[in-house]
Amino acid sequence: MAKIKVASAWLDCCSGCHMSFLDLDEALIDLAGAIELTATPITDIKEFSPVDLGIIEGAVSNEHDEKVAKDLRANCKILMVWGDCACFGGIVSMRNLFSTEEVLRRYYIETESTKDGKVPSSEDIPPLTKVRPINEVVKVDCYVPGCPPSPKAIHYALTELLEGRIPIVPSEIMRFD
Ligand code: SF4
Repeated sequence: MAKIKVASAWLDCCSGCHMSFLDLDEALIDLAGAIELTATPITDIKEFSPVDLGIIEGAVSNEHDEKVAKDLRANCKILMVWGDCACFGGIVSMRNLFSTEEVLRRYYIETESTKDGKVPSSEDIPPLTKVRPINEVVKVDCYVPGCPPSPKAIHYALTELLEGRIPIVPSEIMRFD
């Protein structure tokens, strides 16, 4: 049977959701026989091509994140989101409580370890936007919440998709053992 092609992206996040995927340990060996990773932070391939499954970790926090989310959505048949940041905005959406100016000042000037800080400015830095969960930007087909989602929850979701079902993760496997 042909492997299903999978691409993933991490947006405004801590990478913990992808780390939880890697925590599947030996179960990854079985998955490797069924899926082919294309563009992901794991393979470090950045250009999306058409895939069966797209996965996003993290929230949309700037114009670049929005472009990546739309690009992956346009290239995948099913889009799954991992983690509370992607599902709901999560911890990164706390930034929405402050203005962009306040946030940049805190990051680059006011942190206790910063001396002579300066807010960087460059055309290469994408402008910050309000932090949004993925479903405020593109259509999402399935959700794996948690911070991070447990490896069991990720494994369950991937296995269900491989069986041709859209997963609804049972609450009892959302927690870490
Ligand atoms: S959901 Fe938690 S683990 Fe995943 S990116 Fe957000 S903060 Fe990190």
